[in-house]
Amino acid sequence: MTRWLNVALKVSKRGIHNSPSFLTGAVIVRNGAVLSAEANYSRPFGTENAGYHAEVRAINKCSNCKGSTIIVARRNKKMSRPCPKCLEYIKSVGINKIIYYNWDGEPTVERIAC
Ligand SMILES: [Zn+2]
Repeated sequence: MTRWLNVALKVSKRGIHNSPSFLTGAVIVRNGAVLSAEANYSRPFGTENAGYHAEVRAINKCSNCKGSTIIVARRNKKMSRPCPKCLEYIKSVGINKIIYYNWDGEPTVERIAC
């Protein structure tokens, strides 16, 4: 679990964001293999959706996410639970587990009921 969080932290550094503390990385894995890995980008002016979030960007690069796990890490191990819009998208593609850092910077696993 920590290993994948470290991968997500590394991926977060690829992001483009005007506030570095919001740099987030998302990695999607299944059976120990990485399906995709993306960082978040700044929200373009006037954009309402979450298409710039690392989770959505990673899912969009993944042809089939069913039964996979998404690992989300934010710079400096800050709270990285996906936002409601990302959570909705994560559920819709059949990802059934999320790993992220909670408010205390501790790794947290959340299972998604399908
Ligand atoms: Zn989000």
